[in-house]
Formats: sequence, C-alpha cells, structure tokens
Amino acid sequence: MPSSPDLSLDRMSKGKIPGKESGIEVRKTICSICNPLSHCGIDSYVRHGVVIKVEGTKENPHNEGTICSKGAASRQYIYHPDRIRTALIKKGDRDSGQFEPISWEEALDIIANRLLGIKVETGPESVAFYAGYPKWMRPFLKRLAHSFGSPNYCSESSTCSAGALMASKLNYGVAGRPEIEKSRCLLVWSTNPFYSNTSPARKLLEVVERGVRIIEVGPLITPLTAHAHIHLRIRPGTSGALALGMAHVIIEEGLFDKDFVRDWTVGFEEYRVYVREFPSHVTEQITGVSAALIKEAARLYATTKPAGMLNGPNATVHHTNGIQNHRALTALIGLTGNFDTEGGNYVNPPSYLYVPNGVVTRQHQFEQSRPWEEMPPRIGQDLYPAWCQLIPEAQAIHLPSQIRTRSPYPVRAILAFGMNHRMWPGSDSMREGLKMLDFLVDVDLFMTDTARLADLVLPACSSFERSELKFYPEQYAIWTSPVIEPLGDSRPDIDIILDLAARLAPDDLLLQKGYEDCMDWILGPAHLKVADLKRYPGGYELKDIRMPPYRKYEKSGFSTPSGKMEFTSLILKQAGLDPLPRYQEPRLSPRSAPDLAREFPLILTTGARLPMYVHSRTFRVPWLRSLHPDPTVDINPVDAEERGISPGDWVALSTSRASIRVRANLTEIVPPGTINIYHGYPGADVNQLIEPDYVDPISGYPGFKSLLCEVRKTT
Ligand code: SF4
Repeated sequence: MPSSPDLSLDRMSKGKIPGKESGIEVRKTICSICNPLSHCGIDSYVRHGVVIKVEGTKENPHNEGTICSKGAASRQYIYHPDRIRTALIKKGDRDSGQFEPISWEEALDIIANRLLGIKVETGPESVAFYAGYPKWMRPFLKRLAHSFGSPNYCSESSTCSAGALMASKLNYGVAGRPEIEKSRCLLVWSTNPFYSNTSPARKLLEVVERGVRIIEVGPLITPLTAHAHIHLRIRPGTSGALALGMAHVIIEEGLFDKDFVRDWTVGFEEYRVYVREFPSHVTEQITGVSAALIKEAARLYATTKPAGMLNGPNATVHHTNGIQNHRALTALIGLTGNFDTEGGNYVNPPSYLYVPNGVVTRQHQFEQSRPWEEMPPRIGQDLYPAWCQLIPEAQAIHLPSQIRTRSPYPVRAILAFGMNHRMWPGSDSMREGLKMLDFLVDVDLFMTDTARLADLVLPACSSFERSELKFYPEQYAIWTSPVIEPLGDSRPDIDIILDLAARLAPDDLLLQKGYEDCMDWILGPAHLKVADLKRYPGGYELKDIRMPPYRKYEKSGFSTPSGKMEFTSLILKQAGLDPLPRYQEPRLSPRSAPDLAREFPLILTTGARLPMYVHSRTFRVPWLRSLHPDPTVDINPVDAEERGISPGDWVALSTSRASIRVRANLTEIVPPGTINIYHGYPGADVNQLIEPDYVDPISGYPGFKSLLCEVRKTT
C-alpha cells in the first residue's frame, strides 16, 4: 500500500498549497507589466496579505495558464524595495533629485493650484496630460484633460501602434487584424510575438503544425523564422519598396482581386502606374531580397486564400518613411481581396482599451468630453495635420520642441503618468525640455530618471493592488479586485485622477460620480454593470456578444473621405502630401547619405524587444536583469571580424550625434551591415544617438529603426 500523502501544515506551507490549513488563498488578478493586448490572467497565492507565488490562470482563455518571464517575476516587481510609498515633493532645484514626503491632500492641492494658475495665465492648453505605462487609466486621464479645457492629452502612442493605425486609416478608414486560426497563408511583417505582444505566438505555432504557409518579412531572424516557408530579409526601412515590388508582381500577373479593386477602391490606375517602378530586379537592389523570392512570396500571398497579414505595432512605422511604408504594405490586403474577410484581415473595432471582443462601449464618447472645435490646436497639429485628423491625441514627440520654442503657444506644465523621457529620439533633449517646465508631476511605481525631474512624485500601485476592467479578445472579461493592500500610501492611478478631477474639473459631473459609475456609463450600450461583473471574480464569459460580420464595407462603405479603399489618399492630398504610398529611402541610409555612410557604414536598428524587458520597466527586477545584465548590441560576425571585435567585447556604438558603450553580441540574427540594439538601458540609452527631428514627416514618428552608425572596440 502506498503511504498516504503527508499533508502536514509545514509541508503544505512549503509547497504553497492553498487551503484553510495553510492559510494560503488563490486570488485572481491580471499582470499589466506589458500591454493591454496581453494582460495575462494571474493566480496570486496570498498568505497573510502577501503574494507568495504567481501562476498563470488556467481558465483564462487568453493565456491558458501561461505567463512570460516578466509575469513570473511579478513578486520582485510589486515588492521591489525601490517602490515609491509616499507622495514626494522636490527639495531644491529640478535636477537635485532630492524629495521629502508630503501628504496626499497637500500634494493634490498643490497640483490643482499650480495647474489652475497656469490655466488662468496662459490658457488650459499650456498644461499637457501625458500617459505612458500602464495604460489602464488612459480614458480617465484624457477626459480629465478635456474637461480641464486642454486639447493636449498625449501618450506613448505617439511612438507606438498609432502610426500603423494611422496608415491603415489612410487606406481603409479602419484597421483589420488577421484571423490567424482561419488563414491559409500568413504574411508576418516585422513582428516577433515570441518576445512581445505574445498572444499570437501560440496560435502561430498551432497553425504552422496545420501546414499554414508563413511568409516572414524583416531584417532579423526571429523564433518564427525556422517555421517560415519564406523569409524576406529586407534592409531596414525598405518595407515600402518590398510591398510595392510585391504589388507589381501581383498586378502584372493578374493575381489581384479585380472585383474588389473595381468596386471598392480609388486611385488604382495611379497606383498601378507607380508600382511599375518596382520590377523585381529593382526591388531586389533596394531591399536586398532576391527577385526570385519576392516573386515567390507575392504569388503565394496573392493566390492562397484566405491570407492574413500580421504586422508589428510599430516596426514598419519607426522610419522616416514609416507611414508610406505601412500604407504600401497594408495596400496588399485590399489588392488581394483579403480585407475584412474570414481568415483575412478582419475589422473588429476595439471595445475597451484596445481590445476587440464585440462589446460596444462608449469609451470614445467618455474620453472626448469636449469637441476639438472648442479647444485650441493640439501640440504638433500644425506640423502633423493628418496625424491629428486621424489619431485623437496630441503628438507627444513634438513636446520638447514646443516647450523650448513656446510656439505656437507655451507648454508650461505636464501631469504625467508613467512618463519615460528615454522614449523620445534625442532623449537628452526631452530631459532638458522637462527641466524647462514651470511644473512637472509624475505618477509612477518607481523613482525613475524621469520622475526624479518632477516637482511632485505620486506613488501608484500595481495591478495586484487595484480593481479594473479587463476585456480579452476571446469574449471574456474580468473585473479584478485587489489581491493585496496597496503598498505604503500608493494608490490606483484612476483614484488619483478622480481626486484631481474634483479640484481641476468640478463641472464634469460624470467624473465626480466615481470610477464604477463611470465604467457603468462606458459599458451602458452593452448592458453590462460593474456590480454584475464583480459576481464573477474569476472572469466572465461574454457568451451572448455577437462579433461584427465580415465585409461591413458592402453595407456602409469605408470610413475614408471617398467611402472606398484609397490607393491615393485624399487626406494626404489635402494636407499637401503625396497621396500615393510612395517609397522614399530612410533619410539616413547608405543610399540616401553616402557621404555619411563612409564614416558610419552600418545600419542601426533599435527597439526590437528582448523577452525579459518591456521598454525600461523591468531592468530593476533582479531575476530578469540576471538573464541579460549588460546592454548589448547584436553584430554579425562578418562585421565584427572586420573591426577586430570578439564576443563580449565592450564597444562604442556611435552615430554622428553621440556614442554609447555596450557589449558586443556576435550573432547571425542580424544580417551583415546591420546593428540591432535593445532600447532604454540605463547608462546606455540608444535614443541619445538619434536626432530629435529624425522623424517621419507625416506622423512625427521617430526613425528608430533605420539610420547610420559605426561600432568600434573600446575598453
Ligand atoms: S508581461 Fe508577460 S505575463 Fe505579463 S501580461 Fe505581458 S506577456 Fe503576460
């Protein structure tokens, strides 16, 4: 007879087995370390009010029990000794880094007095409201900005996925995402879901096993490359040329969807004439991809129906030619008749916080509490009118310039949540800009380098310490409850916003009603109530919600000015810009800047993720930092040998603007001639190497992923 298991209290405790005897309870929450398209369900094992273990929630259909290394290190994140536990006020000057504690009431009163004073002196537009990470409070912050009277709500979307959305809107009025499970061919363009935005990764592996054809585009080798039938390894910044070259093959060989093009597009003839400039041998010269592979990929994508296109949120738009690049590649979706079709790129508008799941909400009406016409122009509106027409935010990349020039009006204060000045190209320039403000507040979990510049720093709490609504694309929702008490005096971001709203926007009666009433209002069209969701602490299946049908344009047209897909964009034409998705070389490339390329012959591409980091958020987490302690630059062995660089050597990575010291990682992941580096490392901030005005002229997006550099061995 096997002996019965020893369930002594000691063993149950050591084994972290939940139950009355061990005093361990499993409480459900979400991880919000990365972005809202993930936010994996988390089982928190809590004893005596402390999280002692985390696991992925098995019944959560989104992550099905899985979590990544960042989520697995949650305890080191939420209990990190660097967590800010009290409100802090600056002692000394902006750069002193010295603070002293202050009560919440005092802090909120000071903020209200300063911001209202600036509003009286130079107008509400002189105050910007900025949202970095996390993203859960964004609708509330934007509403507060507008109710205060400022058009200047802005966010890290000024360099994130909004650029790709803008490009899709120029073509289609909306964006579609691939239905990976239903496609027979997937064109995966410059994205690596194994390291970032991980939810498609498991689906991709499943469809690979079913024999779905994968075409991968991008300069780097990724975990998907081994499964791809074709890898088009382009030179960074040449996506647009590749897409036009593929379009040339598809059109010349008659493989496009003639009915869709005839009935539902404008500008096709101009586009057809233009793509004749991109026969495969010319496209090969520009992109570095062989003409034969370009033809093979174009034929495979155009003839394998249905075909979906999965693109990264920003890899194709982080170039000085980014918007036209992304327009060119998404034009292939309509050209091949895969727009808003089953298994193609399906249009399912976001329900709440970027997640589409069929639920109709009033998020947009909630956050836009004042029409644009009643407010002054936004930051960047004069430079990027098409951006401001399509993306309902200010263009934050222009902030340092406007702070400095005070033109067309001064920006004197920023109320920031999770701001990271390293997001900006020429990050030192943004840092100097912040120092010129009359008043800066930052709300964060940690005393970051940006928070250190603030006049007031307010302590936010993590997703484990707050309540929030989380939607998942699998028609699943959860209203979380705090699994532990907030650390110290930290508070949920939205509570902070609502307390400020009482002082800054007392006429906004909806905000005065509080968080849950606001959420009930947002969820009104779906007849969902917070009180009902609370009855399902493990999550709630949205069984009765119907997804929008396919080919919605057949009933309502496209939400473009012409009502059709626009190969030639009327919005761009009216803005005095090129209406065609015209290819231009990145402003700094070996072809466009040959003189500079003699001194800086390598192409620098930045911002691809490492699995353990998300921007600068997790560098301080010991388990994660131990996986990749030093800042490294990926360099092909061919380039390393030419420069006498060995694995692990310290090297100086330089552009014409600046230089940083990093370790060399010799790897075939990058092609010869290209250098790849992760961004945001403390002490090795690659964005310092990029000029503040190295941006796409249509969107203002920085050219993070294609410029010129050199690498030299150093000590
Ligand atoms: S950081 Fe990892 S565990 Fe957390 S939400 Fe993102 S993918 Fe999930």
